[in-house]
Amino acid sequence: MTISMLGHRDELGLTEGQLLVDGAWRDGTENEQWTHVHPASGEEVGRFAVAGESDVDAAVTAARRAFDEGDWPKMRARERIAILHRYADLLREHADELRGLQALDNSVPLSFGGIYTTSVGAAADVFDHHAGWVDKVGGETLPPYQGGDHIAATFREPIGVVAAILPWNAPFLLFAQKLAPALGAGCTVVLKPSEYATFSVLRMVELLIEAGVPAGVVNVVTGPGATVGEALINHPGVNKISFTGSRAVGKHIVEASADGMKRVSLELGGKSPAIVFADAPNVGLAAMTTMGGLTLGLSGQGCVVQSRALVQREVYEEFLAGAQGMAAGATYGDPFDPGVLACPLINSRQLERVSGYVEQGNKDGARLVTGGERLDGEYASGNFFAPTIFAEVDNTSVLAQEEVFGPVLAVVPFDTEEEAIRLANDTKYGLGATVFTSDVSRAFRASRALRAGTVGINGFTLEPHLPFGGFNQSGLGREGGREAFEAYTEQKTVLLPLTEELM
Ligand code: NAD
Repeated sequence: MTISMLGHRDELGLTEGQLLVDGAWRDGTENEQWTHVHPASGEEVGRFAVAGESDVDAAVTAARRAFDEGDWPKMRARERIAILHRYADLLREHADELRGLQALDNSVPLSFGGIYTTSVGAAADVFDHHAGWVDKVGGETLPPYQGGDHIAATFREPIGVVAAILPWNAPFLLFAQKLAPALGAGCTVVLKPSEYATFSVLRMVELLIEAGVPAGVVNVVTGPGATVGEALINHPGVNKISFTGSRAVGKHIVEASADGMKRVSLELGGKSPAIVFADAPNVGLAAMTTMGGLTLGLSGQGCVVQSRALVQREVYEEFLAGAQGMAAGATYGDPFDPGVLACPLINSRQLERVSGYVEQGNKDGARLVTGGERLDGEYASGNFFAPTIFAEVDNTSVLAQEEVFGPVLAVVPFDTEEEAIRLANDTKYGLGATVFTSDVSRAFRASRALRAGTVGINGFTLEPHLPFGGFNQSGLGREGGREAFEAYTEQKTVLLPLTEELM
C-alpha cells in the first residue's frame, strides 16, 4: 500500500498559499515559491509564496502603521474581547478542517486530535483565556516615597509590533499562545509560520480576519527561516520577537535583537526527564506514558517530550519491558487513517539527524533495546523512524544531553533520590519533568528541587491558564497565564503633582 495525500488535499481544497500584507492576500514580489513535500508520502502537496525582503518590510510597515495610527491598540476592551471570543468559536467550528490541513502540513495524525494539549480546542481555549485578561491587566496607584504631594500611577501599554515566529510541530497551540496575548494586549503582529507547517496557519489567519481583526493588525510572511525569518528579526520596525523553536535559532535571535534592544520571548527545546522511583504507583503505566510521548502523535518531536527516563534500579527491567510494549504498538502511515497513531519525522534532514544520534548512542556504548532504524517497505516513501530505546545510557553522553527530536528514549539507571535529582538537573535545558512516586513528600521534595518550568507528578499535561516555559536554556519568559499577557506590554509610570511646588 502506498501512502498518498493527493486525494485528501483535493478534498480539503488546498490551493496555493499567499502572504497577507495590510489586509490583502498576495504573492511575494520576487514571485518565489516554496514546494511543500509531505513527510509521509514524499509527494509535493502544495506551494506557497516565499516573502522577499521587500515583502517583510511591507508587512512590518503595515503592522507599524496599524499600531501607530490604527484603532486596534486604543479599541475598547469590550470590542477586543468580543473579537477574541468570536475567533475561539470559529476555531472550534473549523476544527476538523484545521486538523486535516495540519495532517497535510506535518502529517500529525487525526487520531492525535484527542490529545488536548495540541488540539484546536486547546488553541480556542487559549484565546478565551487571554480574552479574560484584556480588561484586567492594568496598573496601580502608588503613594509618594519622599514626601511631596503627587499621584503616581502605572499603566500597561501594548508593546508595539510583534514578530511571532512558529515551529512546525504544534501550530494550533503555538499560534494561539502568541497571537492571543499579543492581540489581547493591543499589539499588531507579523507572523512567520514554519515552512513545514504553513497551510494550517494560513487558514487560522483567514479565520482571524473573519472574526473581525482589522486590516494590517495581523500580517503573514511565509517561507524559510534563513531568509524570511532573518529579515523579520532584523527589521528595526519590530518591537518584540516572540519565538518558539530550536535553541540554536533562539540563541541567534537573542544576538540579533541586541542592537535594537528588541524584547524577546523564547520557548525552546528540552531534554526533559521522567523520573521513575521504585515506589511509583504503576511502573508499567509510567513506562507506557513515557514511551507514549515518543510513539504517539508527534513521534517524539515535541518540546516537552520526556526523552530521558531516569529509572530506579529495582524497577529498571520492569520499566524497559513496559516501554518496549508501547514501542511495539506504534502504528504509522496515512495520517487521515484513524488507526494511525504516530507521524514520520518532518523532513529528510531530521531523519539524518536522528540516525546520527542513534549511531552516536551505539558508539558511546549504550545498549540498543529496540528500533534504531528507518522504516522501509510500504513506509519507504516517508521519513518514518522506528521507536527506539537505549538502556544503560550514561547521563553525560550525547544521547542523554541533546534534544534528539525523534522517537528515541534514553534510559538511565539510578539508585537514590539524591542521585536522581542530580542526574535530572545535569542538563543545559529545563522545560519539564515528571516524577513517578506514591510518596507525597518525595513528590514535592523532588518537584521543588528540579530545575524545570513544569513538573508533573504521576502524569503531565499543559493548560491554557498555566504558565509554561523553561529554566536554563529552554527559554525566556512564560506562555499561558497573566505573565504571558503582560509580556506583550510595557509598563509606564505617570506622575501628577497635586501642589504647585512640585510643578
Ligand atoms: P526551528 O528553530 O528550526 O524553526 C522555528 C522557526 O524559526 C521556523 O519558523 C523557522 O523558519 C524559523 N527560523 C529558522 N531560522 C531562523 C532565523 N535565522 N531567523 C529567524 N527565524 C528562523 O525549529 P523547528 O524545527 O520548527 O521546531 C522544533 C524546535 O522547536 C525544537 O527544538 C522544539 O523543542 C522547539 N519547540 C519548543 C516549544 C516550547 O514551547 N518550548 C514548543 C514547540 C517546539
